[in-house]
Amino acid sequence: MDTIPEPFSLRNPSGNRLARRGGFRVPFGLKDGRVWAPNEVPKGKACGCICPGCHAPLAAKAQESRRKRPHFAHLTDTGCQTGRETGIHERAKQLIADHQRLLIPAWTGDLIDMPNPPHARDEDGRLHWGRQVDHPTRNMELRDIEIERSFGTYQPDVVAWDAVGELLIEIRVTHAVGDIKAARVQAQGRRMVEIDLSQLHRDTPHDLAAFEHAVLDDAANRSWISCPEAVAEWQASKLELDEQVTARNREIAQLRDQMVKAAQARQERDVQETKDKESRKAYVRRQKREKHAEDLEHLIELTSPERIDRVLREYRISAEDRVGELLNTVPAAVRSACLRAHEDAWIFGVDPVLWQLLAHDHFVAKRSAGDRFNQRDVAAWVRRSFQHEKALYRLFVTQYANRAEAQRAGFPKRRLAYWVFTDEENARIPNFYTPVNDFVDRLESARVIRQLPAPRGECEVLPPPATGWLPGAHVDPGYGPGDH
Ligand SMILES: [Zn+2]
Repeated sequence: MDTIPEPFSLRNPSGNRLARRGGFRVPFGLKDGRVWAPNEVPKGKACGCICPGCHAPLAAKAQESRRKRPHFAHLTDTGCQTGRETGIHERAKQLIADHQRLLIPAWTGDLIDMPNPPHARDEDGRLHWGRQVDHPTRNMELRDIEIERSFGTYQPDVVAWDAVGELLIEIRVTHAVGDIKAARVQAQGRRMVEIDLSQLHRDTPHDLAAFEHAVLDDAANRSWISCPEAVAEWQASKLELDEQVTARNREIAQLRDQMVKAAQARQERDVQETKDKESRKAYVRRQKREKHAEDLEHLIELTSPERIDRVLREYRISAEDRVGELLNTVPAAVRSACLRAHEDAWIFGVDPVLWQLLAHDHFVAKRSAGDRFNQRDVAAWVRRSFQHEKALYRLFVTQYANRAEAQRAGFPKRRLAYWVFTDEENARIPNFYTPVNDFVDRLESARVIRQLPAPRGECEVLPPPATGWLPGAHVDPGYGPGDH
């Protein structure tokens, strides 16, 4: 204890529970520089002891009952506050000095600052455990024991040497070792144990064996205030653990880096593959276009509205006489069907009215009722019979073949477009079937043929109406361009 006991306390004596019940039972008396138990000295006033606290004379009392243990009593009430505690404190030091041994406690670490074993989390949040510091309870021989030697700023109760080195021993009866003193001891690298006697049963100091056990051998009442060898070992363990975690964190960083790089590489590869695919596609497209280069070159000019108007005018003029003749030979309904035409009907290189009249003549007029023909036959016949637009026809066939190929490959494609051509090119290429189909539809409306449900495009020539064709067919040789 740092504080020197005050002989005369100014504190209210009734603050002490024991004092209230008729004064202290002082467990130890002071005589000749030592503290004694009542059984170790003569009885009564003859004991020759004074109070270790207030230094007033004491009388030794033997055990009077089971409840009243041997003790000392002040001869007169001095209002003593410290006799009991000081006696316990002095006797404890004396026991250590006499026996020259001590059970020193296990070092268990510190839950917050030094958890034993140390632990740490890596970057993945995984917990790693270090080596546990094993510093068990040990019975140590002590030598060179000194009581209350001053270390300048503090004065431990006992200083001794054990097998490890210097050992400071604090005996707590009332006050615990303060944080500041503990920090000083730790900073100086000294070893310090605290024996806590503040929780002793009130009878224990009156039982010599029990008190001796409490001071020297009770593992439960002592702890390390400073244990540099255990701390050093713990720090070494912590350092090892930290190195281990640092190494693991490096691995984690490498793994993460590898994953990022792998993801980048994958992305770059994907981009490159897409590029390659696109450039391959562009290459194939270029090659395929090459085959149609000449036809495509003329497509825009061949299908310009100005050219179409011009050729239609030319075709009409050159077909005028023939058309006039033929119109007179057909019934009015057929005449009306032939005078109209699909907008692409010019592609066969001839006046649309003329090819329609001639097709009617060939496939209907010259046939008998019940005869059959197919729209494909009409289309082929028209192409063969006149100078159809060869370049446009080649492009149309290419579109057509590509659609058939796509359909075979499982793409349900309806539009006649070839991926190798531009959208504008695809839109400009005329369909060589539509004008014929359109014409056949009009013949059906005129009731000279009927289209059969199957096979596709199949038509049958109908007999003339029972009433005959309506007379009075009007021929207008000057049919206008609006009819096309
Ligand atoms: Zn006293």
